[in-house]
Amino acid sequence: MNLNERWGMVGHTWAVEALEHAIRTRRAAHAFLIAGAHGIGKTTLARALAKRLLCTTNDSPVAQNDLFGGAAVVNEPPCGECRACVKNAKGVHPDVMLLEGVPSRDFYNKNGSTAPPRKSDREKRILLVDQMRDMEKWLSTAPFEGKYKIGIVRRFEDANEEAQNAFLKTLEEPPSHAILILTAQDAGLLLPTIVSRCQPLNLRPLSVESVERALMEKWNANEADAQLLARISGGRLGWAVRALSTPNVLETRRAALDALNALVQEGRAERITRAEKLSKDSSELPQMLETWQTWWRDILLLASEQNARVTNVDYMNALQSHAQQLSIEDIQRALNATRTAARQLGQNANARLVTEALTLRYPRGG
Ligand SMILES: [Zn+2]
Repeated sequence: MNLNERWGMVGHTWAVEALEHAIRTRRAAHAFLIAGAHGIGKTTLARALAKRLLCTTNDSPVAQNDLFGGAAVVNEPPCGECRACVKNAKGVHPDVMLLEGVPSRDFYNKNGSTAPPRKSDREKRILLVDQMRDMEKWLSTAPFEGKYKIGIVRRFEDANEEAQNAFLKTLEEPPSHAILILTAQDAGLLLPTIVSRCQPLNLRPLSVESVERALMEKWNANEADAQLLARISGGRLGWAVRALSTPNVLETRRAALDALNALVQEGRAERITRAEKLSKDSSELPQMLETWQTWWRDILLLASEQNARVTNVDYMNALQSHAQQLSIEDIQRALNATRTAARQLGQNANARLVTEALTLRYPRGG
């Protein structure tokens, strides 16, 4: 079993190797900042690191004699078999605390209730100062079972300045048994005083091929789903795995693409009616515009004969026909208009007006 497999990781090999080396040479940091896009594998790596640190198999490989005279079995951490590894695999190790933001104050309960699962990647959450203080208190006492107490804080960009400052106190004087692992989309969103105290690990997307392979081999996806999800994910395996088990991700995408494909063949009045309908559920709009951006990007790729990089492979015929009919300028304008609309929505512009203006800007084709 290679190192990545032992850690339970797909890809991000350089990060696993760097961490393993640091642990073996006893130079591991007390605080880490794992950065990268949503669903890229940050929390998976944080949990794997916790499992590695708490595994009770010796740090040096131990060859155990096989009772039946076979080849010696070499146990290396994380062994996956000791009590600590089993508990970590189930997410119930008492020396690991995982915090993430809560949707509203109502959901946070000091008596250990955890945040409900996110409805989508975009769900807004806040990490509260109370949560930071609870973690600090929890870290201040000795570990229950292992050598360390490990605090993982997901999406630290959800912490406001007050909460970040509360956490900074813990980072400045951590108890010797404490290991802190933060995850964030981008280190630039955090206070520099926090970033400078953490060892950075910036995760990059995996190749589309390796996501596709992992989906088929480890998550039993069929080839068509694996190919499509790997491409839509842009190399974010965690996103693809979640999408695989959430059927409406592909349905919602299909509805968004069908609407766009119909829209570009319609006249002004029909577009206005359609825009009004589409903007009714404004919570769905950001995702829809993101999907629409992949559509225009694909047409642009096809128009410049970069077919291999197309995302929406299941719409190849429609995309090809648009690419043949539209000028590069028209396609680029449509893509830019979609990006602008997405930005405006992010700034709380009126959903109906933004959608209407956007649909009227699209070229006619089909
Ligand atoms: Zn173990």
